Amino acid sequence: MIIRFLGTHNAESKYTSLVSFLIDDVLAVESGGITSELSFSEQEEIKAILLSHGHYDHIKGVPAFAFNNACHTTRVFATQQTLKILSSHLIDGVIYPKFTEKTPVCGEQSLELVTLEPFIPVDIEGYRVLALPVNHNNISAVGFEITSKDGKKLFYTGDTGPGLSAIWEHVSPQLIIMDVTFPNRLEDTAKNSAHLCPKMLKKELIEFQRIKGYFPRIVLVHFTPKFKEEIREEVKEVAKELKLSIELASEGNELIV
Ligand SMILES: [Zn+2]
Ligand SMILES: [Zn+2]
Repeated sequence: MIIRFLGTHNAESKYTSLVSFLIDDVLAVESGGITSELSFSEQEEIKAILLSHGHYDHIKGVPAFAFNNACHTTRVFATQQTLKILSSHLIDGVIYPKFTEKTPVCGEQSLELVTLEPFIPVDIEGYRVLALPVNHNNISAVGFEITSKDGKKLFYTGDTGPGLSAIWEHVSPQLIIMDVTFPNRLEDTAKNSAHLCPKMLKKELIEFQRIKGYFPRIVLVHFTPKFKEEIREEVKEVAKELKLSIELASEGNELIV
């Protein structure tokens, strides 16, 4: 699987884009950067979009994408609550057309919303996708284990607070893409908003190793831009203590699993 990071932050600017990545150019995970970071022809390649939860930074790209790709149907996969948030706030027929219905542009439906049930794997464009619930701010939030046809696996946590040990037994990825939003000095803020800081990341990784018996490759996303360098320094310490490599993703990075 080739993973291409379109956005790796929680705040958008000229230099930072919202968390989103492509798998083999056809599967988009989150939507923050799927229009601003891609040409029209690259957008056309996307066959399906996975959304982890209904917060704005994750669902924001969907209406603009649907507008740009109105002449064919793209499937959007998420839990029932996330799809409800999307259809009642962003594709509601008020601020933009209801892209889930046939639009006048080409007479096509640009989006089909498909409900994902946690713990039930589904086939999406040849990938096995397993949604697993994570703890995030009292909103329905899931992480995804995505398995390619040749058996390569990644797990993306989505936005998450502590307590991932409940799902480690359900996954066995070679790569984990994880949320680290704050530095250690804001651990309380991280806990209150259900995100992770490097210190909390360390705990989650130790639990992973205890349950699974190995460390996968770790790549971090969802940085608050002004804290990224502070997070980088603290993550270096965690990596040294656990004797593994932990990478901080940047916009445009590609990696292969
Ligand atoms: Zn969130
Ligand atoms: Zn977020």
